[in-house]
Amino acid sequence: MNDYIVRATAAKGQIRAFAVTSAETVETARRAHDTSPVVTAALGRLLSAGAMMGAMMKGEDDLLTLQIQCDGPIGGLVVTADSHGHVKGYANHPEVMLPPNARGKLDVGGALGHGILSVIRDLGMKEPYAGQTELQTGEIAEDLTYYFASSEQTPSSVGLGVLMNRDNTVRCAGGFLIQLMPFAEEEVIEKLEKNLAGIDSVTACLDRGDTPEQLLEKLLEGLELEFQEKTGLQFFCNCSRERVEKAVVSIGKKEIAEMIQEGKPVEVKCHFCNKAYEFSMEDLKRIIKRSR
Ligand code: ZN
Repeated sequence: MNDYIVRATAAKGQIRAFAVTSAETVETARRAHDTSPVVTAALGRLLSAGAMMGAMMKGEDDLLTLQIQCDGPIGGLVVTADSHGHVKGYANHPEVMLPPNARGKLDVGGALGHGILSVIRDLGMKEPYAGQTELQTGEIAEDLTYYFASSEQTPSSVGLGVLMNRDNTVRCAGGFLIQLMPFAEEEVIEKLEKNLAGIDSVTACLDRGDTPEQLLEKLLEGLELEFQEKTGLQFFCNCSRERVEKAVVSIGKKEIAEMIQEGKPVEVKCHFCNKAYEFSMEDLKRIIKRSR
């Protein structure tokens, strides 16, 4: 496993920072969902962000969900992450193709269009914490920056990038997330802004072979960067036959009866990893007894 998330602080705790390299994770998602290049970029950016935001959570069983509901042709995206470097996700329409945008890049903003970004943190409390903001550009990094500022009152800088090979496999993917603590001093903010203005795009850095550590060294140069822990990252789905069967049970008696009448086994795919589970006639007859 080559993918990982690194966590750091800078300016004596006035800044917290994360960076991630996620090419294998995004390539696994691409293969699982057979995504088109623009969808690989969109899902890859959201997976990379989810990985870093998952690493922010402290509890063993904490779960982060990033959900985008939008009117663009991609229809929507969902990513979930835990605090142990496991992420998974999907796009509603993985096949969407679009011409490049005005800058000749994959048109992620065009694929998403207008919509809502939701961040849901299930920290084991009675109610999960949820925040929502409108998409700003649909390019995801800007949308998350806006989310952190307006919904969590945390000034942040988010950079995300996915670069494809000629055969549309993932060449590199990753990003960074830098946040200012409320007590950050003016000169620290100025220095950080200067560094941010001077850096190449995330994809340019990753393509040059920069590691997440090197990315943060550039972004936080002169700001007393201190690395904390490093967490391995992978695309991981915890679906099982039992879980999928529960979903079939919940469809309802009438629908299952119709499936049985069709006389053919039914294939149910996991949304997150696209794994197919087949339910035979015998299975369906057993399941309908548990259904209401
Ligand atoms: Zn799955």
